[in-house]
Amino acid sequence: MLVKNPIMGLCQQADFMLSAAKVEQCPDDEGYEVAFAGRSNAGKSSALNTLTHASLARTSKTPGRTQLLNFFRLDDERRLVDLPGYGYAKVPIPLKLHWQRHLEAYLGSRRSLVGLILMMDIRHPLTEFDHLMLDWAVAAQMPMHILLTKADKLAFGAAKTTLLKVQQDLRRGWGDSISMQLFSAPKRMGVEEAQAVLGRWMHLLDAPTAPSEDAEG
Ligand code: GDP
Repeated sequence: MLVKNPIMGLCQQADFMLSAAKVEQCPDDEGYEVAFAGRSNAGKSSALNTLTHASLARTSKTPGRTQLLNFFRLDDERRLVDLPGYGYAKVPIPLKLHWQRHLEAYLGSRRSLVGLILMMDIRHPLTEFDHLMLDWAVAAQMPMHILLTKADKLAFGAAKTTLLKVQQDLRRGWGDSISMQLFSAPKRMGVEEAQAVLGRWMHLLDAPTAPSEDAEG
């Protein structure tokens, strides 16, 4: 029987809360927050929109908001955060430094942050910026889940092969605490899988009781 994840309903009613230029402008640091990160053009806005059935992330793309932390309310205790897209070649260096400081301040201090979703274009995975995020998540013991986006750009077999290859590289470089899946916004591929992760992190679904695939035996 398919267990309905309560996160689905919450995602459908997600609503823009506020944009923050500094950590002090963020909403009260309580409850559960999941942040979405990714290199510019990785498909972060499309993934957020697909997961929430709304055009939420359009807000984050409006001029003046792209360098801000954009918060979306799911319920009184739960929020999604769209982090500024990083690594955009046209962004001047001082802005990149500002981005880094700003993001570090948020990541380093946010107690309600329960996990990070990192978007990577399946055709360009593990960029140097992804490395930075991975290093940080592992060092901070922050749960991370990766969406390999635009999976529809490859044939299914090739997408699966890439998934396995990136999983291997990830294990080698950062251990086995980080999970990963295929995702496609136009095909709505991987939506339930990603929502299940959100639900678990936000204490809406029990953690799986069966031993993980990686368990011995
Ligand atoms: P962001 O900069 O990370 O927020 O990226 P966007 O979500 O704006 O996507 C960048 C470009 O990639 C846009 O042209 C999207 O239409 C396209 N895109 C995003 N996700 C997908 C996907 O899953 N499949 C395909 N084919 N294109 C996608």
